[in-house]
Amino acid sequence: MHDVVVVGGGFAGVTAAREAARDGRSVLLLEGRDRLGGRTWTAPWNGHQIEYGGGWVHWHQPHTFSEITRAGLTVELSGDPDVTAWYVGAERRTGTIAERDAIANRGWLQFVDGVERSLPNPHDPTLAIDQLARIDRLTIAQRVDELDLDDEHRAVLWAELESLAHGPLDVAGAASVLRWHALSGYSLALTQYTGGRVTLTRGTRGLLEAIAGGAQYETRLSTPVAAVRRRGDGVEVETRAGELLPAARAVVAVPLNTLGAIEFEPALSELKLEGIALGQASRGIKIFIHADGEPICQNAIRPGHPFGYLDTEFVNDDGTQVMIGFGYDAALNDATDLPRVQGDLDRIIPGYRALDASAHDWLADEFSRGTWAIHRPGWYSRYYDEMRRPEGPVLLAGSDLAAGWSGFIDGAIESGLRAGAWLRQTGP
Ligand SMILES: Cc1cc2nc3c(=O)[nH]c(=O)nc-3n(C[C@H](O)[C@H](O)[C@H](O)COP(=O)(O)OP(=O)(O)OC[C@H]3O[C@@H](n4cnc5c(N)ncnc54)[C@H](O)[C@@H]3O)c2cc1C
Repeated sequence: MHDVVVVGGGFAGVTAAREAARDGRSVLLLEGRDRLGGRTWTAPWNGHQIEYGGGWVHWHQPHTFSEITRAGLTVELSGDPDVTAWYVGAERRTGTIAERDAIANRGWLQFVDGVERSLPNPHDPTLAIDQLARIDRLTIAQRVDELDLDDEHRAVLWAELESLAHGPLDVAGAASVLRWHALSGYSLALTQYTGGRVTLTRGTRGLLEAIAGGAQYETRLSTPVAAVRRRGDGVEVETRAGELLPAARAVVAVPLNTLGAIEFEPALSELKLEGIALGQASRGIKIFIHADGEPICQNAIRPGHPFGYLDTEFVNDDGTQVMIGFGYDAALNDATDLPRVQGDLDRIIPGYRALDASAHDWLADEFSRGTWAIHRPGWYSRYYDEMRRPEGPVLLAGSDLAAGWSGFIDGAIESGLRAGAWLRQTGP
């Protein structure tokens, strides 16, 4: 019998396991995949270590940066693109990044109007819920429809929002945009910076290994959990292979969109089940394209495009480059279909030949069922507090339920730290 079973070995799960083990508890970490890291995954491709999942970090993300410091790791900054382009209808316009950001900022500032009142402390998103409630009811598309924008301002804002939401704007909740903005010091420039400029020199794997290795506990990979049942004051966790594992406490740190695949006995509260059934709205793609063409850093956005945000990630010594594209719907992409990737590339950055492409389909993946958390309308008014409320010996955790940087690595670490505090306060 263990003191704690942690289900899920992403950043949240390994942080929770480390915290509990450092406090002297016996911990068993159960991970469904054959690797730790969950929605982060550093892997080799075309001569580079790429991040199929989360990759960017920032010093405004306090839990991540504290762990980077603790592990003695370093970060790298990417440079500005040489060419920036945006689309208004089928017309491609080019300019400096400052010019495009000025266009984006006009719509952005209208979108987030009132955010200082509705999110006065973005690490406590329901602090002024009566103020946030109106925006929390809206999808991103409904909020854009309220704004006074000409075609160019609307197209640029729409493309920015599609890449941020990583899901359809008529489904994703508008409050997530305000949250990201508030967490980034209430600035669009910093919102872009926090989400796409700073990477870990040794990749997310380096940080993950540092946290996971920060204490002694047992880890079992390729061990999906089927059920978490209360037994007396404790729990019994059943793996899909039928093994029964008793513990005093369970921290279930799996993605929101996969929680429905785990049976809880007794059933979780009605409201939690409703929140789980609702899930979060991301269904996008992060695609890597190795391309031949002018060896200068490119950046382009185009609303409705399968990878409507495209940026040069590496320029190779042979003049080719690796681009990263973000699109709002994984179903519109197939990285194995190079002619299709080429056609899409021509429609956003003409003049480049796609040599190879790669992506992980996080939407189809049974252990993620989506990418970074973008909550649906009503999340903060109705579900947020309840999802975080422990039920007896069971706590749900993970970035998707975090207070601050939910949807980021930082939120996962924060959630793991909170799980550690909960165990300290209530655990065996
Ligand atoms: C494409 C993409 C790009 C992103 N970009 C960024 C970025 O640049 N910066 C950033 O900070 N964040 C980014 N994110 C978000 C970030 O990666 C996640 O928010 C964070 O890693 C989630 O951590 P987590 O531990 O909460 O969940 P996860 O990492 O999803 O970990 C949950 C774990 O639970 C396991 N699991 C699921 N079901 C079961 C089960 N039944 N039994 C046992 N195990 C189970 C999963 O396999 C997984 O390992 C990105 C995510 C994606 C997908």
